[in-house]
Amino acid sequence: MPSIPMPRFDDNVRLVIEATCGCCGPIHNSLAGWEMIEAASAHTAETGHVVILNGTVDRPDLEGLEILQ
Ligand SMILES: [Zn+2]
Repeated sequence: MPSIPMPRFDDNVRLVIEATCGCCGPIHNSLAGWEMIEAASAHTAETGHVVILNGTVDRPDLEGLEILQ
């Protein structure tokens, strides 16, 4: 298994994670980014449920540029 490099945190990059439990449905939607991953891991550890993670990384500033063009 290849090692995953630690991400560099950049104020210009937004990490959005959605966690959905196969048993309970969406969980902890108020959390953002890495906190969501930790919450999903904790949920699996506590309940044994399978949690599906959907992650998106985007650049809000680039979205703004596209609108201006
Ligand atoms: Zn659950």
